[in-house]
Amino acid sequence: MPLMSAQAYRESLRDGRAVYVAGERVEDITRHPILQITVDHSAQVYSLAEDPALRDVMTVEADGGRISRYFVIPRGSDDLLARQALIEEHTRRELSVLNIVKAIGTDALFALHAVAHRMDQELGATYGQRVQAFYRHCRDRDLTMAVAQTDVKGDRSRLPHEQDDPDLYVRIVERRQDGIVVRGAKAHTTAGPVVHELIVIPTRALGPEDRDYAVAFAVPVATPGVKLICRTTGSTQQSAFDYPISRRHIETESLTVFDDVFVPWDRVFLDGEWQFAGPLALTFANFHRFTAISYKPPTGDLFIGAAQLIAEWNGVERAAHIREKIARLIGYTEMIRACTRAAALDPELLPPGIALPSPTMTNIGKHHFASQFHEAVRLLQDIAGGLVITAPSEADLRNPETGPYVEKFLRTRKDVDAAARLKLFHLIRDLTASEFGGYNLVVSLHGEGSLEAQLITTYRQYDLERCKRLVRQALGLD
Ligand SMILES: Cc1cc2nc3c(=O)[nH]c(=O)nc-3n(C[C@H](O)[C@H](O)[C@H](O)COP(=O)(O)OP(=O)(O)OC[C@H]3O[C@@H](n4cnc5c(N)ncnc54)[C@H](O)[C@@H]3O)c2cc1C
Repeated sequence: MPLMSAQAYRESLRDGRAVYVAGERVEDITRHPILQITVDHSAQVYSLAEDPALRDVMTVEADGGRISRYFVIPRGSDDLLARQALIEEHTRRELSVLNIVKAIGTDALFALHAVAHRMDQELGATYGQRVQAFYRHCRDRDLTMAVAQTDVKGDRSRLPHEQDDPDLYVRIVERRQDGIVVRGAKAHTTAGPVVHELIVIPTRALGPEDRDYAVAFAVPVATPGVKLICRTTGSTQQSAFDYPISRRHIETESLTVFDDVFVPWDRVFLDGEWQFAGPLALTFANFHRFTAISYKPPTGDLFIGAAQLIAEWNGVERAAHIREKIARLIGYTEMIRACTRAAALDPELLPPGIALPSPTMTNIGKHHFASQFHEAVRLLQDIAGGLVITAPSEADLRNPETGPYVEKFLRTRKDVDAAARLKLFHLIRDLTASEFGGYNLVVSLHGEGSLEAQLITTYRQYDLERCKRLVRQALGLD
């Protein structure tokens, strides 16, 4: 089970996949000015594993070989805490941008293991073997995976079969002796263009009339009929001084089209068993929200550090309101860490022995991170001042005609380096007010499911009877 090298990863992406950016088909995604940033970002999952200092964080011995730690199936709290530590450290190394290419796929593999086991028990099916074989295929070749769950969904008030166009949720259009043919499209597939495998699962619970939409499967990205239409943010032309994060680290999402794609049976994990679409969607969402609350604290740490540093360089760090705002940023970040830890320490054990992070703590943590992120941005921008969006660029600093002015007027005191202060403003802009900053606002709200999804799960999971009993006792009713 050799680990893949970063170089081999890059080469493996030149496989004829159908990737489109800004209206054009991309021949080599590793050399494209936008996608190259995502390729380099994603490749770090391999290069960090090659770093002797991080070997034991990123990889682990298993089944007689070395594997990526992402593939470790959590059996209890220790494994979940190790996964939290892995994701947090990995994200810190990528300057707060999640490297999703092994995290999300393994979230789906854990959910598939648990749900396939249930299907095998209840229906006498053999999905467990297929999931296990696919898991080993990914793990032993050290592959990367994206998860295409969110359908384009059409009119949100209608069920899949009620839509004007039947293809607005991915569905099975043909069952053949050797496999199935699927049609439809999934939205927002993070890292779709830069991974080896696409894992497809349902968005939601389904009824018997939506049987053909109850489908889960995996295909290599270069499979005929799979087309990825990507969003456009960032460019290798941009200055790393002006865009300190997004010039080096960015994810790319795609509208992922399945234009009559053939999937062989050994890669089909749900084939019309509509009763299991909801459990699969929810179990994946829970694992993935645990990933989310594990990757968010490094962003909070950057906010806290940037707020404190700019306050010091501006000479306002002793002001009471500045300290209060930084304390609130610390509270925002540490609350997420605490929820992640609590979720890991109180897991539910799903047959056949997979530890699901506490759904209540996971969803509370994710809701806190998502609903309060805009407030955290407000606090940082408030502390930093308007230069966050009006500061001159690196080119102005380097131009001999303007550079001396920038040096003179961007300095606040003798001990403050003007170029460093300018760069810090650009860092805060990149995190909160650039195109990438805007992306951060929206992904915080909608990534890993909208706010409502987290509240619904929290409500459904909670032991309301215990609280009702207490009230009944207080009222003298019991
Ligand atoms: C940057 C980014 C990356 C993502 N990465 C992935 C990924 O890798 N894989 C993946 O599968 N998905 C991914 N997602 C999708 C993400 O999970 C969805 O964006 C999220 O679930 C919301 O779905 P939506 O965008 O279709 O919005 P909508 O579902 O349209 O939601 C918009 C609003 O309408 C409300 N709403 C929707 N339906 C109803 C209804 N029936 N009744 C009442 N209210 C309703 C919602 O609560 C929300 O307030 C990503 C999203 C983003 C933004």
